[in-house]
Amino acid sequence: MAKCYTLTADVFTIPYHDDESILYAPLLGFVCVVNDDVINLLADVEHIDLKTLNKEEKATLRYLEDKGLLNGSREYNCVHPYQEKYQPAQLTLFPTNQCNLRCIYCYASAGEQKPLVMDWHYAVSAIEFMITSLKERGGKHLSLGLHGGGEPLYPWQFIKRVVGYVEDRCSQEGLTHAIFSASNGVLSEKQLQYIVKHFVNLNISFDGLPHVQDYHRPLAGGQGSFEHVDRTMRFLDEKKFNYGIRGTVSDYNINLMPEIVRYIGEHYRCKSVHLEPLFYCGRCKTTGTMDPGIEAFAEQFKRCEDVAAEYGINLIYSGCHIDMLRNMFCGVSCANFSVTPDGYLTACYEVTDREDSKSEKFFFGRIREDGTIFIDDEKRRRLHSLTVDQLDYCRDCFAKWHCAGECAAKIPHDDITGARGHDRCQLNRQLIAERLKRIVEGNFKTGRLSYHKIEDMT
Ligand code: SF4
Ligand code: SF4
Repeated sequence: MAKCYTLTADVFTIPYHDDESILYAPLLGFVCVVNDDVINLLADVEHIDLKTLNKEEKATLRYLEDKGLLNGSREYNCVHPYQEKYQPAQLTLFPTNQCNLRCIYCYASAGEQKPLVMDWHYAVSAIEFMITSLKERGGKHLSLGLHGGGEPLYPWQFIKRVVGYVEDRCSQEGLTHAIFSASNGVLSEKQLQYIVKHFVNLNISFDGLPHVQDYHRPLAGGQGSFEHVDRTMRFLDEKKFNYGIRGTVSDYNINLMPEIVRYIGEHYRCKSVHLEPLFYCGRCKTTGTMDPGIEAFAEQFKRCEDVAAEYGINLIYSGCHIDMLRNMFCGVSCANFSVTPDGYLTACYEVTDREDSKSEKFFFGRIREDGTIFIDDEKRRRLHSLTVDQLDYCRDCFAKWHCAGECAAKIPHDDITGARGHDRCQLNRQLIAERLKRIVEGNFKTGRLSYHKIEDMT
Protein backbone atom coordinates (compact mmCIF):
# COMPACT_ATOMS: atom_id res chain seq x y z
CA MET A 1 0.00 0.00 0.00
CA ALA A 2 1.25 3.51 -0.86
CA LYS A 3 2.67 5.51 2.00
CA CYS A 4 0.51 8.40 3.23
CA TYR A 5 1.02 11.10 5.83
CA THR A 6 -1.16 12.61 8.54
CA LEU A 7 -0.28 15.57 10.73
CA THR A 8 -0.64 14.21 14.24
CA ALA A 9 0.98 16.88 16.42
CA ASP A 10 0.05 20.41 17.50
CA VAL A 11 2.18 22.35 14.98
CA PHE A 12 2.36 26.13 14.58
CA THR A 13 4.18 28.53 12.30
CA ILE A 14 5.54 31.84 13.53
CA PRO A 15 6.80 34.49 11.07
CA TYR A 16 10.60 34.80 11.12
CA HIS A 17 12.43 36.33 8.14
CA ASP A 18 10.95 37.34 4.75
CA ASP A 19 10.42 33.87 3.30
CA GLU A 20 11.11 31.86 6.45
CA SER A 21 9.01 30.83 9.42
CA ILE A 22 9.61 29.00 12.64
CA LEU A 23 7.91 25.62 12.71
CA TYR A 24 7.04 24.83 16.30
CA ALA A 25 5.62 21.68 17.84
CA PRO A 26 5.57 22.61 21.56
CA LEU A 27 4.44 19.25 22.91
CA LEU A 28 7.28 17.53 21.05
CA GLY A 29 9.89 20.14 21.98
CA PHE A 30 10.60 20.63 18.25
CA VAL A 31 11.72 23.98 16.76
CA CYS A 32 12.90 24.50 13.20
CA VAL A 33 13.23 27.27 10.62
CA VAL A 34 11.54 26.38 7.34
CA ASN A 35 10.76 28.09 4.06
CA ASP A 36 7.35 28.52 2.47
CA ASP A 37 7.77 25.31 0.43
CA VAL A 38 7.87 23.20 3.59
CA ILE A 39 4.86 25.00 5.03
CA ASN A 40 2.89 24.42 1.83
CA LEU A 41 3.95 20.79 1.78
CA LEU A 42 2.71 20.32 5.35
CA ALA A 43 -0.52 22.22 4.73
CA ASP A 44 -1.40 19.78 1.96
CA VAL A 45 0.26 16.68 3.37
CA GLU A 46 -2.87 14.61 3.82
CA HIS A 47 -3.96 14.98 0.16
CA ILE A 48 -0.66 15.00 -1.60
CA ASP A 49 0.20 12.50 -4.35
CA LEU A 50 3.57 11.26 -3.11
CA LYS A 51 4.63 10.29 -6.61
CA THR A 52 4.75 13.98 -7.52
CA LEU A 53 7.28 14.83 -4.77
CA ASN A 54 10.98 15.32 -5.43
CA LYS A 55 13.78 13.70 -3.39
CA GLU A 56 14.14 16.61 -0.94
CA GLU A 57 10.41 16.79 -0.26
CA LYS A 58 10.25 13.08 0.45
CA ALA A 59 13.24 13.35 2.78
CA THR A 60 11.58 16.26 4.61
CA LEU A 61 8.42 14.25 5.21
CA ARG A 62 10.41 11.24 6.42
CA TYR A 63 12.34 13.51 8.80
CA LEU A 64 9.17 15.08 10.22
CA GLU A 65 7.67 11.63 10.64
CA ASP A 66 10.78 10.52 12.47
CA LYS A 67 10.50 13.54 14.79
CA GLY A 68 6.87 12.72 15.59
CA LEU A 69 5.09 15.53 13.73
CA LEU A 70 3.56 13.11 11.22
CA ASN A 71 1.93 9.70 11.52
CA GLY A 72 1.61 9.04 15.21
CA SER A 73 2.14 11.22 18.16
CA ARG A 74 4.59 11.05 21.00
CA GLU A 75 3.42 14.37 22.38
CA TYR A 76 3.79 15.22 26.02
CA ASN A 77 0.45 15.23 27.80
CA CYS A 78 0.09 18.20 30.11
CA VAL A 79 -3.67 18.07 30.47
CA HIS A 80 -4.75 17.33 34.01
CA PRO A 81 -8.28 15.95 34.28
CA TYR A 82 -10.69 17.23 36.92
CA GLN A 83 -10.27 15.36 40.22
CA GLU A 84 -13.63 14.40 41.70
CA LYS A 85 -12.02 14.28 45.12
CA TYR A 86 -10.28 17.45 46.19
CA GLN A 87 -6.62 16.56 46.78
CA PRO A 88 -4.54 19.73 46.77
CA ALA A 89 -0.82 19.53 46.03
CA GLN A 90 0.16 22.33 48.35
CA LEU A 91 -1.19 24.44 51.19
CA THR A 92 -0.85 28.21 51.16
CA LEU A 93 -1.72 30.37 54.14
CA PHE A 94 -2.40 34.10 53.90
CA PRO A 95 -1.59 34.97 57.50
CA THR A 96 -2.61 38.64 57.48
CA ASN A 97 -3.78 41.68 55.53
CA GLN A 98 -1.37 43.91 57.47
CA CYS A 99 1.97 45.15 56.22
CA ASN A 100 4.97 47.24 57.25
CA LEU A 101 5.16 48.79 53.76
CA ARG A 102 2.78 51.00 51.78
CA CYS A 103 3.70 50.16 48.20
CA ILE A 104 2.14 52.71 45.87
CA TYR A 105 0.63 49.99 43.67
CA CYS A 106 -0.30 47.39 46.32
CA TYR A 107 -3.02 45.18 44.81
CA ALA A 108 -4.45 44.51 48.26
CA SER A 109 -4.19 48.14 49.51
CA ALA A 110 -2.51 46.51 52.53
CA GLY A 111 -2.68 48.53 55.71
CA GLU A 112 -5.97 50.21 54.78
CA GLN A 113 -8.36 47.46 55.84
CA LYS A 114 -9.52 46.36 59.26
CA PRO A 115 -6.41 44.49 60.53
CA LEU A 116 -6.71 40.72 60.47
CA VAL A 117 -4.38 37.94 61.57
CA MET A 118 -5.42 34.36 60.88
CA ASP A 119 -7.06 32.60 63.82
CA TRP A 120 -4.91 29.73 65.00
CA HIS A 121 -7.68 27.16 64.52
CA TYR A 122 -7.88 27.96 60.77
CA ALA A 123 -4.17 27.21 60.40
CA VAL A 124 -4.42 23.94 62.35
CA SER A 125 -7.52 22.78 60.43
CA ALA A 126 -5.85 23.53 57.08
CA ILE A 127 -2.63 21.72 58.02
CA GLU A 128 -4.54 18.70 59.36
CA PHE A 129 -6.69 18.58 56.22
CA MET A 130 -3.51 18.58 54.13
CA ILE A 131 -1.92 15.80 56.20
CA THR A 132 -5.07 13.63 55.97
CA SER A 133 -5.27 14.21 52.22
CA LEU A 134 -1.59 13.28 51.79
CA LYS A 135 -1.98 10.09 53.82
CA GLU A 136 -5.07 9.04 51.83
CA ARG A 137 -3.13 9.14 48.57
CA GLY A 138 0.19 7.86 49.90
CA GLY A 139 1.87 11.29 49.69
CA LYS A 140 5.03 11.75 51.72
CA HIS A 141 5.74 15.47 51.46
CA LEU A 142 3.94 18.54 52.76
CA SER A 143 4.54 21.88 51.01
CA LEU A 144 3.50 25.00 52.87
CA GLY A 145 3.61 28.42 51.21
CA LEU A 146 3.00 31.74 52.95
CA HIS A 147 1.64 34.50 50.80
CA GLY A 148 0.12 37.95 50.71
CA GLY A 149 -2.88 40.06 50.87
CA GLY A 150 -0.41 41.70 53.31
CA GLU A 151 3.15 40.86 54.33
CA PRO A 152 2.93 37.15 55.23
CA LEU A 153 5.79 37.29 57.74
CA TYR A 154 4.42 40.35 59.58
CA PRO A 155 2.61 38.40 62.36
CA TRP A 156 5.88 36.80 63.38
CA GLN A 157 4.71 34.93 66.51
CA PHE A 158 1.94 33.33 64.43
CA ILE A 159 4.45 32.32 61.74
CA LYS A 160 6.78 30.67 64.26
CA ARG A 161 3.85 28.81 65.77
CA VAL A 162 2.75 27.53 62.34
CA VAL A 163 6.29 26.46 61.42
CA GLY A 164 6.72 24.63 64.75
CA TYR A 165 3.37 22.90 64.30
CA VAL A 166 4.17 21.75 60.76
CA GLU A 167 7.60 20.47 61.83
CA ASP A 168 6.17 18.51 64.78
CA ARG A 169 3.24 17.04 62.89
CA CYS A 170 5.31 16.04 59.87
CA SER A 171 7.83 14.34 62.10
CA GLN A 172 5.03 12.44 63.93
CA GLU A 173 3.48 11.36 60.61
CA GLY A 174 6.77 10.44 58.89
CA LEU A 175 6.40 13.18 56.27
CA THR A 176 9.04 15.47 54.85
CA HIS A 177 8.11 19.11 54.47
CA ALA A 178 9.15 22.37 52.81
CA ILE A 179 8.17 25.86 53.94
CA PHE A 180 8.60 28.90 51.72
CA SER A 181 7.25 32.42 51.66
CA ALA A 182 6.75 35.56 49.66
CA SER A 183 8.08 38.59 51.53
CA ASN A 184 8.75 42.28 51.09
CA GLY A 185 12.19 41.60 52.59
CA VAL A 186 11.92 44.07 55.49
CA LEU A 187 13.04 41.59 58.12
CA SER A 188 15.15 41.75 61.24
CA GLU A 189 18.37 39.75 61.63
CA LYS A 190 16.63 37.51 64.18
CA GLN A 191 13.88 36.72 61.67
CA LEU A 192 16.45 36.02 58.98
CA GLN A 193 18.39 33.66 61.26
CA TYR A 194 15.16 31.77 61.85
CA ILE A 195 14.22 31.72 58.15
CA VAL A 196 17.51 30.23 56.96
CA LYS A 197 17.07 27.47 59.51
CA HIS A 198 13.42 26.60 58.90
CA PHE A 199 12.51 27.71 55.35
CA VAL A 200 13.69 26.43 51.97
CA ASN A 201 13.07 29.55 49.91
CA LEU A 202 11.95 33.19 49.97
CA ASN A 203 10.49 35.15 47.08
CA ILE A 204 11.41 38.75 47.73
CA SER A 205 9.58 41.69 46.19
CA PHE A 206 12.25 44.13 45.13
CA ASP A 207 12.02 46.72 42.37
CA GLY A 208 15.66 46.63 41.55
CA LEU A 209 17.33 50.02 41.95
CA PRO A 210 17.64 51.92 45.23
CA HIS A 211 15.65 54.99 44.17
CA VAL A 212 12.96 52.90 42.46
CA GLN A 213 12.57 50.67 45.51
CA ASP A 214 12.28 53.71 47.82
CA TYR A 215 9.73 55.37 45.55
CA HIS A 216 7.61 52.31 44.74
CA ARG A 217 7.83 50.54 48.08
CA PRO A 218 8.03 52.95 51.04
CA LEU A 219 7.78 51.87 54.68
CA ALA A 220 4.50 52.59 56.45
CA GLY A 221 6.11 55.77 57.86
CA GLY A 222 7.05 56.97 54.35
CA GLN A 223 10.85 56.33 54.48
CA GLY A 224 12.50 54.26 51.78
CA SER A 225 12.79 50.48 52.19
CA PHE A 226 15.87 49.87 50.01
CA GLU A 227 18.42 49.71 52.82
CA HIS A 228 16.33 47.06 54.65
CA VAL A 229 15.80 44.82 51.63
CA ASP A 230 19.41 45.22 50.53
CA ARG A 231 20.55 44.08 53.99
CA THR A 232 18.20 41.08 53.81
CA MET A 233 19.50 39.92 50.44
CA ARG A 234 23.14 40.38 51.47
CA PHE A 235 22.43 38.30 54.58
CA LEU A 236 20.80 35.57 52.50
CA ASP A 237 23.68 35.64 50.03
CA GLU A 238 26.18 35.20 52.82
CA LYS A 239 24.22 32.17 54.06
CA LYS A 240 23.87 30.85 50.48
CA PHE A 241 20.12 30.71 51.03
CA ASN A 242 17.88 30.15 48.05
CA TYR A 243 15.69 33.14 47.12
CA GLY A 244 14.10 34.74 44.06
CA ILE A 245 13.40 38.37 43.26
CA ARG A 246 10.08 39.60 41.96
CA GLY A 247 9.99 43.16 40.60
CA THR A 248 7.12 45.34 39.44
CA VAL A 249 7.46 47.62 36.43
CA SER A 250 5.42 50.82 36.31
CA ASP A 251 5.62 53.86 34.03
CA TYR A 252 8.26 55.13 36.52
CA ASN A 253 10.86 52.38 36.01
CA ILE A 254 9.97 51.03 32.56
CA ASN A 255 13.05 52.43 30.84
CA LEU A 256 15.28 51.16 33.63
CA MET A 257 14.49 47.46 33.20
CA PRO A 258 17.87 46.37 31.73
CA GLU A 259 19.64 48.49 34.36
CA ILE A 260 17.59 46.78 37.08
CA VAL A 261 18.62 43.30 35.89
CA ARG A 262 22.24 44.43 35.69
CA TYR A 263 22.10 45.94 39.19
CA ILE A 264 20.77 42.67 40.61
CA GLY A 265 23.41 40.68 38.67
CA GLU A 266 26.19 42.90 40.02
CA HIS A 267 25.07 43.08 43.66
CA TYR A 268 23.36 39.82 44.61
CA ARG A 269 23.79 36.08 44.10
CA CYS A 270 20.11 35.63 43.20
CA LYS A 271 19.69 33.88 39.82
CA SER A 272 15.93 34.10 39.47
CA VAL A 273 14.47 37.49 38.54
CA HIS A 274 10.79 37.76 37.81
CA LEU A 275 9.53 41.03 36.29
CA GLU A 276 5.85 41.85 35.84
CA PRO A 277 4.17 44.91 34.39
CA LEU A 278 2.09 46.71 36.99
CA PHE A 279 -1.57 45.82 36.82
CA TYR A 280 -3.74 48.84 37.54
CA CYS A 281 -5.73 47.98 40.67
CA GLY A 282 -5.71 48.42 44.47
CA ARG A 283 -3.68 51.39 45.67
CA CYS A 284 -2.84 52.53 42.09
CA LYS A 285 -6.28 54.09 42.09
CA THR A 286 -5.41 56.51 44.88
CA THR A 287 -1.71 57.08 44.11
CA GLY A 288 -2.19 57.49 40.35
CA THR A 289 0.54 54.91 39.63
CA MET A 290 0.27 53.78 36.03
CA ASP A 291 1.14 50.63 34.14
CA PRO A 292 4.17 50.86 31.83
CA GLY A 293 2.30 50.14 28.59
CA ILE A 294 2.43 46.67 27.13
CA GLU A 295 4.48 47.56 24.04
CA ALA A 296 7.08 49.31 26.15
CA PHE A 297 7.27 46.35 28.55
CA ALA A 298 7.74 43.91 25.67
CA GLU A 299 10.51 46.05 24.18
CA GLN A 300 12.36 46.45 27.46
CA PHE A 301 11.95 42.79 28.45
CA LYS A 302 13.61 41.80 25.18
CA ARG A 303 16.52 44.11 26.07
CA CYS A 304 16.80 42.44 29.46
CA GLU A 305 17.34 38.99 27.92
CA ASP A 306 21.00 39.59 27.02
CA VAL A 307 21.77 41.22 30.36
CA ALA A 308 20.18 38.29 32.20
CA ALA A 309 22.18 35.80 30.10
CA GLU A 310 25.40 37.71 30.89
CA TYR A 311 24.84 37.16 34.64
CA GLY A 312 23.39 33.64 34.36
CA ILE A 313 20.02 34.95 35.57
CA ASN A 314 16.81 33.10 34.80
CA LEU A 315 14.57 35.97 33.64
CA ILE A 316 10.89 35.33 34.24
CA TYR A 317 7.64 36.92 33.17
CA SER A 318 4.50 34.94 34.05
CA GLY A 319 3.18 34.70 30.49
CA CYS A 320 6.28 33.43 28.69
CA HIS A 321 7.41 30.23 30.40
CA ILE A 322 8.85 28.60 27.30
CA ASP A 323 10.81 26.24 29.52
CA MET A 324 7.65 24.52 30.73
CA LEU A 325 4.53 22.97 29.29
CA ARG A 326 1.37 23.60 31.26
CA ASN A 327 -2.33 23.78 30.75
CA MET A 328 -2.90 25.99 33.80
CA PHE A 329 -1.61 29.54 34.10
CA CYS A 330 -1.44 29.02 37.85
CA GLY A 331 -3.07 26.88 40.49
CA VAL A 332 -6.40 28.68 40.10
CA SER A 333 -7.88 26.01 37.84
CA CYS A 334 -6.97 23.18 40.20
CA ALA A 335 -8.39 25.20 43.10
CA ASN A 336 -5.25 26.08 45.02
CA PHE A 337 -5.70 25.26 48.69
CA SER A 338 -5.09 28.81 49.88
CA VAL A 339 -6.60 30.06 53.09
CA THR A 340 -7.39 33.73 53.77
CA PRO A 341 -6.89 35.22 57.26
CA ASP A 342 -10.64 34.82 57.94
CA GLY A 343 -10.78 31.18 56.87
CA TYR A 344 -12.03 31.31 53.26
CA LEU A 345 -10.52 29.07 50.59
CA THR A 346 -9.48 31.10 47.56
CA ALA A 347 -8.15 29.73 44.30
CA CYS A 348 -6.43 33.03 43.44
CA TYR A 349 -3.43 34.56 45.24
CA GLU A 350 -4.60 38.03 44.23
CA VAL A 351 -8.13 37.71 45.58
CA THR A 352 -7.92 37.37 49.33
CA ASP A 353 -10.69 39.63 50.62
CA ARG A 354 -14.38 38.68 50.77
CA GLU A 355 -15.21 42.32 49.92
CA ASP A 356 -13.42 42.01 46.57
CA SER A 357 -16.11 41.45 43.91
CA LYS A 358 -13.87 38.80 42.30
CA SER A 359 -14.22 36.64 45.42
CA GLU A 360 -17.56 35.48 43.98
CA LYS A 361 -15.58 33.62 41.31
CA PHE A 362 -12.46 32.58 43.16
CA PHE A 363 -13.61 31.73 46.69
CA PHE A 364 -14.70 28.09 46.64
CA GLY A 365 -15.01 27.07 50.27
CA ARG A 366 -14.30 27.89 53.86
CA ILE A 367 -13.10 26.47 57.14
CA ARG A 368 -16.03 26.24 59.52
CA GLU A 369 -15.82 27.26 63.16
CA ASP A 370 -15.74 23.56 64.18
CA GLY A 371 -12.63 23.03 62.00
CA THR A 372 -14.36 21.02 59.25
CA ILE A 373 -13.85 22.19 55.71
CA PHE A 374 -16.62 23.08 53.29
CA ILE A 375 -15.78 22.85 49.59
CA ASP A 376 -18.13 23.96 46.82
CA ASP A 377 -17.43 21.29 44.18
CA GLU A 378 -19.59 23.02 41.60
CA LYS A 379 -17.38 26.11 41.82
CA ARG A 380 -14.27 23.98 41.79
CA ARG A 381 -15.46 22.35 38.58
CA ARG A 382 -16.08 25.78 37.05
CA LEU A 383 -12.56 26.89 38.01
CA HIS A 384 -11.17 23.77 36.38
CA SER A 385 -12.72 24.87 33.08
CA LEU A 386 -10.04 27.61 33.00
CA THR A 387 -7.41 25.17 31.74
CA VAL A 388 -6.14 26.25 28.33
CA ASP A 389 -7.23 23.03 26.59
CA GLN A 390 -10.83 24.06 27.35
CA LEU A 391 -10.58 27.72 26.29
CA ASP A 392 -11.94 28.33 22.77
CA TYR A 393 -10.19 31.69 22.62
CA CYS A 394 -6.76 30.04 22.93
CA ARG A 395 -7.37 26.98 20.76
CA ASP A 396 -5.14 27.95 17.80
CA CYS A 397 -2.52 29.94 19.66
CA PHE A 398 1.12 28.83 19.33
CA ALA A 399 1.77 30.11 22.87
CA LYS A 400 -1.02 28.14 24.51
CA TRP A 401 1.08 25.53 26.33
CA HIS A 402 3.32 28.23 27.87
CA CYS A 403 0.94 31.11 28.53
CA ALA A 404 -1.81 28.63 29.41
CA GLY A 405 -4.66 31.07 28.97
CA GLU A 406 -3.40 34.01 31.00
CA CYS A 407 -4.21 35.20 34.50
CA ALA A 408 -7.94 34.84 35.10
CA ALA A 409 -7.91 37.65 37.68
CA LYS A 410 -6.74 40.13 35.03
CA ILE A 411 -9.44 39.46 32.45
CA PRO A 412 -11.23 42.78 31.87
CA HIS A 413 -14.79 41.38 31.94
CA ASP A 414 -16.90 38.96 33.95
CA ASP A 415 -16.69 35.84 31.79
CA ILE A 416 -13.45 34.27 32.99
CA THR A 417 -13.64 31.47 30.42
CA GLY A 418 -14.24 33.94 27.56
CA ALA A 419 -11.88 36.20 25.60
CA ARG A 420 -8.62 37.01 27.35
CA GLY A 421 -7.43 40.62 27.80
CA HIS A 422 -6.06 41.71 24.43
CA ASP A 423 -2.98 43.56 25.72
CA ARG A 424 -1.57 40.83 27.92
CA CYS A 425 -2.40 38.18 25.33
CA GLN A 426 -0.37 40.11 22.72
CA LEU A 427 2.45 40.62 25.21
CA ASN A 428 2.63 36.90 25.98
CA ARG A 429 2.64 35.98 22.30
CA GLN A 430 5.34 38.53 21.51
CA LEU A 431 7.65 37.39 24.28
CA ILE A 432 7.23 33.69 23.54
CA ALA A 433 7.88 34.34 19.82
CA GLU A 434 10.97 36.31 20.80
CA ARG A 435 12.25 33.41 22.91
CA LEU A 436 11.72 30.99 20.03
CA LYS A 437 13.76 33.31 17.79
CA ARG A 438 16.49 33.44 20.39
CA ILE A 439 16.54 29.63 20.61
CA VAL A 440 16.91 29.43 16.83
CA GLU A 441 19.76 31.95 16.95
CA GLY A 442 21.48 30.21 19.84
CA ASN A 443 20.86 33.01 22.34
CA PHE A 444 18.51 31.24 24.71
CA LYS A 445 18.89 27.84 26.28
CA THR A 446 16.24 25.54 27.62
CA GLY A 447 16.65 21.81 28.05
CA ARG A 448 13.10 21.23 26.85
CA LEU A 449 13.46 22.31 23.23
CA SER A 450 15.71 21.02 20.46
CA TYR A 451 16.45 23.27 17.55
CA HIS A 452 16.55 21.40 14.22
CA LYS A 453 18.21 22.76 11.12
CA ILE A 454 16.56 22.39 7.76
CA GLU A 455 19.70 20.68 6.39
CA ASP A 456 19.07 17.83 8.84
CA MET A 457 15.91 17.01 6.95
CA THR A 458 17.41 16.30 3.57
S1 SF4 B 1 4.70 44.63 50.56
FE1 SF4 B 1 3.07 43.58 49.41
S2 SF4 B 1 1.32 43.60 50.79
FE2 SF4 B 1 2.79 45.11 51.58
S3 SF4 B 1 2.12 47.06 50.71
FE3 SF4 B 1 3.68 46.18 49.35
S4 SF4 B 1 2.53 45.03 47.77
FE4 SF4 B 1 1.12 45.41 49.51
S1 SF4 C 1 -4.28 34.21 26.39
FE1 SF4 C 1 -3.55 34.75 24.36
S2 SF4 C 1 -1.36 34.20 24.36
FE2 SF4 C 1 -2.31 33.16 26.07
S3 SF4 C 1 -2.83 31.11 25.29
FE3 SF4 C 1 -4.65 32.43 25.07
S4 SF4 C 1 -4.54 33.26 23.01
FE4 SF4 C 1 -2.49 32.46 23.53
